[in-house]
Amino acid sequence: MGSGASLVPMISKETIDKILDTAQIEDVVGDFVALRRRGANYMACCPFHNEKTPSFSVSPSKGIFKCFGCGKAGNSVNFIMEHEQLGYVDALKYLGRKYSIDVTDKEESPQDAENRLRSESLMAVTQFASEFYANSLWNTDQGISVGLGYFRERGFDDELIKKFMLGWAPSGRDSMSRAALKAGYKREFLIAAGLSIERDNDKELVDRFYERVMFPVHTISGRVIAFGGRTLKAEKTVAKYINSPESEIYIKSRTLYGIYFAKSSITKRQKCYLVEGYTDVISFHKAGVENVVASSGTSLTTEQIRLIKRFTPEVTILYDGDAAGIKASLRGIDMLLEEGLRIKVVLFPDGEDPDSFARKNTPEELRKFLDESEEDFIAFKTRLLTAETKRDPIQRARLIQEVVASIAVIPDAINRAVYIEECSLRLNISEEILSQEVKKLRRKKQYGAYSGDAPATPEPGAPLYFPVLETGERLPQFITNTYCEPAEKELLYYLIKFGEHPLYGADEENPGSVTVSQFILTELSNDDLELQNLVYKSIFDEYYIIKERSQEEIQKYFMNHPNREFVNVVLDLLHQEHNLTIKQFVAEIPPEEQHLSITVPKSILIYKAKITSIAYQGLCKDLSQADKDNDESRKNELMEQLQILMHIRNSFSKELKRLTI
Ligand code: ATP
Ligand code: MN
Repeated sequence: MGSGASLVPMISKETIDKILDTAQIEDVVGDFVALRRRGANYMACCPFHNEKTPSFSVSPSKGIFKCFGCGKAGNSVNFIMEHEQLGYVDALKYLGRKYSIDVTDKEESPQDAENRLRSESLMAVTQFASEFYANSLWNTDQGISVGLGYFRERGFDDELIKKFMLGWAPSGRDSMSRAALKAGYKREFLIAAGLSIERDNDKELVDRFYERVMFPVHTISGRVIAFGGRTLKAEKTVAKYINSPESEIYIKSRTLYGIYFAKSSITKRQKCYLVEGYTDVISFHKAGVENVVASSGTSLTTEQIRLIKRFTPEVTILYDGDAAGIKASLRGIDMLLEEGLRIKVVLFPDGEDPDSFARKNTPEELRKFLDESEEDFIAFKTRLLTAETKRDPIQRARLIQEVVASIAVIPDAINRAVYIEECSLRLNISEEILSQEVKKLRRKKQYGAYSGDAPATPEPGAPLYFPVLETGERLPQFITNTYCEPAEKELLYYLIKFGEHPLYGADEENPGSVTVSQFILTELSNDDLELQNLVYKSIFDEYYIIKERSQEEIQKYFMNHPNREFVNVVLDLLHQEHNLTIKQFVAEIPPEEQHLSITVPKSILIYKAKITSIAYQGLCKDLSQADKDNDESRKNELMEQLQILMHIRNSFSKELKRLTI
């Protein structure tokens, strides 16, 4: 469950050591990956990227894993963090549970402890209930004839019914509550978990679910937290589905039905199908499509999106053919784009939903249909709206605004550019106009637009914008892969050496709210910049994963890194008197900490200025080549780009002057 940073529990050093000593890397990894012995090591296909020939290696003697394909590497804790998408502490807890090592939080407040115990108690009750419902499905006459009969008729085979822990809530009005009380579960928790209801008149406990087939809802780690119950009666007066109410353990906006059963398939296939409900998810599993989740009735929330995003950047939304329903949902999807997800859409034929389609067709036909009818969301939206607008100019303008609104929220500049290009063709409007509209909207909504001067002390959590460009624009995408080694190294230096240091507000008046690492990471991602030196980039990427740790831990992590190159680079940065370009701009250096608020922004500025000027020189060369080739359109394009860079260069030199004074 979500907890603020201040609640991050501590685990004692002894316990951590004990866990690290106990956890055998091959045993930890082996729970998720089929390992094959190769000499002293093990090999497997990498669980973190898609591959057919194994390049994922596990070394028991060193206690580490490493993928030679995607470069992921680390010890048991890193593996669990990455594979289960857990934080450091939670990964340790996971291993603690696996090896029965008590990971009692050292600095847990009494309130934390109480909440945790309460959640545990509620989950014990929901676990009991799911066993009760499953038992009554498999082992009672009514369960077998009515419940099991229904599932089988729906095409769910026994294996599937067991996997999803489906059940039967019997017809007695209080069978489950009674059984739970008898087994020693507290009344208070039965009520709080939403399973039992206290009757008004006599205060007797009665069951919320009875005479229904039961669908347990699991957390991402597989614990039951809620239920959906479907009646088998056809009467209109009986609600078809009843769901658990929200509780301390069941927060709908954070839950996705099926995520536990889908996560490894989502990771492997790098795609997540989004459907409406329980039966769609299960029918897809029957057809072998396991990367599927349901938002259960409500429209998708940001928290649910982030849950998916841990595993893949691509979501395909499956619609049944109801046009009004689709139109109503279009706007909600901008929220997905805004989170940086790639969205696709599959439209089922009239009268079919994912469940019915999966049942009527073979698994091969389903897969083929999914692959072939998948369409990019913005293209889909454009097509859908174009069909409606005909030639009415006012409607057409509205359509364009709609499409622009979707494009404008996409965080990645390159993706935006691709969409602008595509939609310009589809809508028959010039790219320039579209891109102007997108920019306008972005500026208005402050999606990463620079907002004048950087405040001396930004609010905690406020976006960090450094006023690099007065025009309020970011670096153009055509220069983002320009390489300048010394400037990259310098950024890495500040990150490794001072990452944890407050950047602004290091005085008493303004307690530090932005750290060096936050600043650098945000600055780079704001402009979609990635380091070009592969070793630096890998260090950056790993730094990002462990950025919550202390500076000392991070430095240790890199100095003990299995990749020797990392170790060398980091040692070099930490111990050698390095030759900073920045020295030319700052009069006196030591003690460095006191100048971070100048040196770090400046090193970012220099980095950006350098790659701009390198890109500029490159363009000049290209231009003279295009001139020789008499390639007019290329020349025009280059001239345009040169003009942009010239403008940026001026802004940079002004900024540098300002910072130097
Ligand atoms: P039928 O057999 O009549 O098709 P169904 O159980 O498949 O019934 P639908 O009415 O087709 O249910 O609903 C579509 C999807 O939405 C299903 O996956 C279903 O599980 C889910 N669903 C429907 N109503 C609810 C609800 N109130 N809460 C959660 N999920 C629901
Ligand atoms: Mn249905």
